Amino acid sequence: MKVVTTIQALAKEIQAAKQSQKTIGLVPTMGYLHEGHLTLAQTARAENDVVVMSIFVNPTQFGPNEDFESYPRDLPRDTALAESVGVDIVFAPSVEEMYPQDGGIRLHAGEQATILCGASRPGHFDGVLQVVSKLFHLTMPNRAYFGQKDAQQVAIIATMVRDFNFPLEIRVVPIVREEDGLAKSSRNVYLSGAERQEAPAINEALQLARDSFLANGDADSALAKAKAHIQTRTHGRIDYIELLAYPDLTPVTATTQQVLLAAAVYIGKTRLIDNCIFTVKEGL
Ligand code: AMP
Repeated sequence: MKVVTTIQALAKEIQAAKQSQKTIGLVPTMGYLHEGHLTLAQTARAENDVVVMSIFVNPTQFGPNEDFESYPRDLPRDTALAESVGVDIVFAPSVEEMYPQDGGIRLHAGEQATILCGASRPGHFDGVLQVVSKLFHLTMPNRAYFGQKDAQQVAIIATMVRDFNFPLEIRVVPIVREEDGLAKSSRNVYLSGAERQEAPAINEALQLARDSFLANGDADSALAKAKAHIQTRTHGRIDYIELLAYPDLTPVTATTQQVLLAAAVYIGKTRLIDNCIFTVKEGL
């Protein structure tokens, strides 16, 4: 496995892969790898000749009062883990390498970014699109791998790929969870022991709401059950719990087939997100 930190060194590797007609799978991450990231890499490994993993904590997707500075980082550990699942190239650039100058040109995510995480993190998805589009250009992947954990991110990136004709396929990997159901996240390390005990209540609440919605099609009562569960089982503060049509992220209607039930909850100071996507078979 090669670890490259410059765009030039990455370009050399990509050129060599393209010259020998190899397919490329890209796994973009912010590092501090866990099994969720490794599952993306394993899926990419199974489907491509060359697997590139980027490890870059992207400052442009963090708000001014968010955790860019304190976001956990451990490149030596990450490279060992990446190698263990068969990644061929780790691209770990510095902020200066990715953003040497600022010409002021921005990608702006549309309607899909005005709700859910976009409502509480203004500009977040614009930053995501900026870095992801750069990574797409730099690695020229045949396929790029993203987690369903960030379902809104997947929907917005898929829209960019469609609208700007990026010649690649987006592959979505299911959420990887701890044994007690908590979605794996690099931010879980922020949780105190007591907070960690409370955190699985988010997933439990989503399951309760899904079952309730599938039983009677009533979104309001499903969401009320989820909120009550979080309020009684945690000291957390709910940022949002919502039920939307997926992947459009529009209100659920009688013709909706795929439903996204998504939540963001502050457990202590840590903002955790989770979701489930399910099919409404018989219509509502
Ligand atoms: P991050 O490093 O948090 O930006 O995540 C990098 C990629 O890993 C994104 O596509 C995430 O959706 C995905 N990911 C993060 N956590 C999980 C998880 N628990 N299960 C599946 N994919 C995940």
